[in-house]
Parts: sequence; structure tokens; C-alpha cells
Amino acid sequence: MKTRIVRVRQNAETFTPREDADLRSAGELIRSGGLVAFPTETVYGLGGDALNRESSRKIYAAKGRPSDNPLIVHICRLEDIREIASEVPDVALKIADAFWPGPLTMILKKADKVPPETTGGLDTVAVRFPSDRTAQKLIEYSGGFVAAPSANLSGRPSPTIARYVEEDMDGRIEMIVDGGEVGIGLESTIIDVTVTPPQILRPGYITREMLENVLGKVDTDVTILKADSGQAPKAPGMKYRHYAPKGELTIVEGKPDAVAEYINRAAEADGRNGEKTGIIGTRELLSEYHADVVKCVGNRGDEETIARRLFTVLREFDDENVTKIYSESFETAGLGQAIMNRLLKAAGHKVIHV
Ligand code: AMP
Ligand code: MG
Repeated sequence: MKTRIVRVRQNAETFTPREDADLRSAGELIRSGGLVAFPTETVYGLGGDALNRESSRKIYAAKGRPSDNPLIVHICRLEDIREIASEVPDVALKIADAFWPGPLTMILKKADKVPPETTGGLDTVAVRFPSDRTAQKLIEYSGGFVAAPSANLSGRPSPTIARYVEEDMDGRIEMIVDGGEVGIGLESTIIDVTVTPPQILRPGYITREMLENVLGKVDTDVTILKADSGQAPKAPGMKYRHYAPKGELTIVEGKPDAVAEYINRAAEADGRNGEKTGIIGTRELLSEYHADVVKCVGNRGDEETIARRLFTVLREFDDENVTKIYSESFETAGLGQAIMNRLLKAAGHKVIHV
């Protein structure tokens, strides 16, 4: 299959006739059972018709994703939630009022018209109303219900630019809508509202603190930050090694000086063994590091930048064939919880305390 790439500005207020025509043909492709990758405010998504079981099968095949790992259904009008959820509790409306459209996914009881292929066989459905206007338009032209996991091959870092989508999906899908670099860079927060109190299944840009301000008590799935909780995560996808670069990633935790010293020593030893070494550091420590490739993820206090840069940096190490990567560790509160969750999964939970 030849993958067509079209350029449409991300989150545009209004579209040029050419952009509108491209979005219409992308929508047509999805309606007729094809797959189109497109930018959202979080990461690039790989979209197919959520109500067509064949489309969902194709998404799993294109990503190489296990079919028990359910897809998120994207909508472009709040009222459409009632079409795909059999029950919409008050708490869901409260969350929608505060955070939709935006980078937040809710788990609800599913309506019959959502095929089991889309929900990985579960009787619940994940629903998100993205804020990106380009994504909204595409969803509208696609019929209103677009299943869209991140547009990467299963296990790899989620794509933040169209070139990374192309790297993973060229020849596997009908079209890529290139809208430049996404703004947030990490996938949506997932909250299960079928339980009381609601439970966070995946941390993201909408933090636990923000949710608690609106809802009062919110639980967090214990598996999110631990390697050895002994429990299966409630978001099936969270059990897989994920977001991983090709090189072996180790997180080093401790006082800044000790971290830099440990990382430098480890990288030097790896270098002597013929490895190509890389370091993920914050601006404050960057001049301390020595390795083949040293990448800055942002200032330590600037979590928005760190979130936006993390997957990009992991992909850049792949571009440069780095085989051993060391990273500083990050806060585990606020947005730092989402950053650390992705980093831990990318490292297969390999953490060294110094
Ligand atoms: P991605 O589309 O790559 O962002 O991954 C979607 C995430 O949502 C995966 O971790 C899924 O396991 C999770 N998810 C989707 N649907 C459900 C559901 N019905 N219940 C729990 N988790 C879900
Ligand atoms: Mg994903």
C-alpha cells in the first residue's frame, strides 16, 4: 500500500480549501474502512472507524498490537458520548465539563453498537474528546467515532512528529496528516468512571491534583508507578513494555552530583565495551555529562517541556543508533507522575539508586 502524506496545520481556526479537501478525503478513507494517522494535542493517533470491527482489526495489525489492548474512541461532540456509552454517570459529566475537549480519556460502560474488537473484548469503552480542531474536523468527516491509538508500532515511543509516524507506518496505512510537532507530547490521562471513587489508570497531562480539585477523592491504579505490585493493571495496555527506544535504558536516581558521577562512569565503561552511549539530562546537569550523545529534555522545573520532549528524545537516540542510554529520574507528583510513568515503562523499570 502507498501511504499518502498531506500537510494540514494542527489546531487550525479555519482551513484553506486545500486543507479542507484533504481532511474530507481522510474522513472518506476512514468511513470506507481505511486508516489515517493524524495529530492531536497529545501525540499522533492512528485513526479508523471505531464502529467498524474490520477497521479495529486493521489498527491492531498495522501497529502489531496485541488484540486484548483496547482502543480509545475519539468523538467531536460531547452529546455523542451517549451513542457509545450505555450509562453516563454524573461524575462523567463533571469531568467533561472541566476537562473536555482535552487530553483526558474516560472509561464508561459500552453501548452495544461498539464492536468488541474496538474494546479488546471488554464491556467498557474508552472515550476522548480531543481539543485539537484539526483532529475534531477529521473526526467529524469520518462519521464521528474514530478509534485512535498512538500511531507507533506497538512498544515504540509514541510519535510527536509526522516523520516518526512515517518511520513506523509507511506502507501500512492509507494516509498521514502531517500537522507538525504536537503540543503535549504524552498520551491522555485515563480515568475509570465506572468505579467509585473514580480511578486513574494512566497518568497524563491532566494530573491527579487537577482531577481532585473537581471531584474530591480520586484513586490511582497501584500498578502505575511500581514494577512489582503483583497486580494486573486495569488499563490492559499498561502491562506491556512500552515507549521503548531500541537502546537499553537505565534510570539513575539520587542526589544530582552522585547521579552525574554514576552515569559518567557507567557510560565510560560501556564505551570501552564498544557500546554507543547516550544520556538524557536536565539543563542544570548537562555540562557535567560525558557520552557519545547527550540530550537535554528541558529545565528540571519545566515539566511541560520535559513531557513534550521525552518521546522525541527517545526516538532521536534510535536515529543515532545509541545502544546504552542513562536518564536522570523525575518527580512523581503532578505532571512528573506521567513523565516518570512513561520513562519507567521505557526502561522496563530498570532503576539504579545511587
Ligand atoms: P493508546 O491508544 O496507545 O494511547 O493506548 C490506549 C490505552 O487505553 C491502553 O493502555 C488501553 O489499555 C487503555 N484502554 C482502552 N480502553 C480501555 C478500557 N475499556 N478499559 C481500560 N483501559 C482501556
Ligand atoms: Mg500507545
